[in-house]
Amino acid sequence: MSNVDPITRTQAVIAHGDGSYAIEQIDLLPPQDDEILVEIKAAGICHTDWDSIQNWDGPFVVGHEGAGVVRAVGPGVQRFNIGDHVVLNWAIACGHCAMCDDGLFPLCETSSPANGDGKSGLPRPEATTRSGAPINSSFNLGTMANFSMVKEAACQHLQDGVPFEVGAIMGCGVMTGFGSVVNAAKVSAGASVAVIGCGGIGLNVIQAAAISGADPIFGIDISPERLEQARKFGATQTILSDRDDPTLASVKDAVFAATGRGADFAFECTAIPELGAAPLALIRHGGTAVQVSGIEQVIPFDCSLFEWDKTYINPLYGQCNPERDFARLQDLYLSGDLKLDDMITKTYALDQLETAFADMLAGRLAKGVIRLDQRDPA
Ligand SMILES: [Zn+2]
Ligand SMILES: [Zn+2]
Repeated sequence: MSNVDPITRTQAVIAHGDGSYAIEQIDLLPPQDDEILVEIKAAGICHTDWDSIQNWDGPFVVGHEGAGVVRAVGPGVQRFNIGDHVVLNWAIACGHCAMCDDGLFPLCETSSPANGDGKSGLPRPEATTRSGAPINSSFNLGTMANFSMVKEAACQHLQDGVPFEVGAIMGCGVMTGFGSVVNAAKVSAGASVAVIGCGGIGLNVIQAAAISGADPIFGIDISPERLEQARKFGATQTILSDRDDPTLASVKDAVFAATGRGADFAFECTAIPELGAAPLALIRHGGTAVQVSGIEQVIPFDCSLFEWDKTYINPLYGQCNPERDFARLQDLYLSGDLKLDDMITKTYALDQLETAFADMLAGRLAKGVIRLDQRDPA
């Protein structure tokens, strides 16, 4: 069936579990059942990758954002053929538990990261080895490698005209930002939207709000450069905030002055724990605050911020329905409504990961992408 060698030997970024990482060799067996061998062409660089290297047990293959080419398929694979271009998603749903039945695929009860042990998204452990021993992969993907073994449910078709770099970033921050607006908050035309933090995720929230017809859209950040970016992605007004004011008092004044009652929706996209309650301060009575960034720390919470009838939601992965949403995101990209080329600040080779992380941590990137070497024109 396949024309690959019985074992695919490849380079991969391996996290050791003690904060260190290195490019090392891994071996991949031919795929079985619903497994797919993907040649990764581009891998997104995410704060989660940095956190995982620092905090997760090792060893594992780093990377959970990627796009590439199908090189071999197991006999149970139904939707893909060798040579297909694919984008990977990191919430690999079983498709038949209570959460999946409700369409809440990222909350799948047998799949990591929300529940369970991730077994439904896991290829055979022995399919990927390092020095002869099975090795885990970040989110069952491990995209910072020339090849990765994944389950069919982790793959969606990448359409003609969508570059691998764009596919790679679509799989995480774009989906999370867009889905938080469209799927979770259900922002409608004419709604007022405040977005706290205009980095990669915030820009995707802003452009999803613009695509939804929201107006006004307030972009809020401590960086004038990022506010400039926010305008390009659809913010109708920008507000420079003060690093020393986690209550966002002056921002609140500006939002209330412009809207008369507070915003209908406010999105927190900073991952700064002290700002976890901030979106509640910017919304009107009955409005919706959305925490997009994944804050998990304990912070003091003034319950009067919920007055009155306010809702605070914390969607995972933008309530992603992979089949529906990746097609929709690509259609919007191809029609020019979703600006993703401009979001990729810089690309790197695999051995430049240290520089890429440094750029990301210094806030110099909306989004960085690793280009794996291209050995054929696919
Ligand atoms: Zn990510
Ligand atoms: Zn499920």
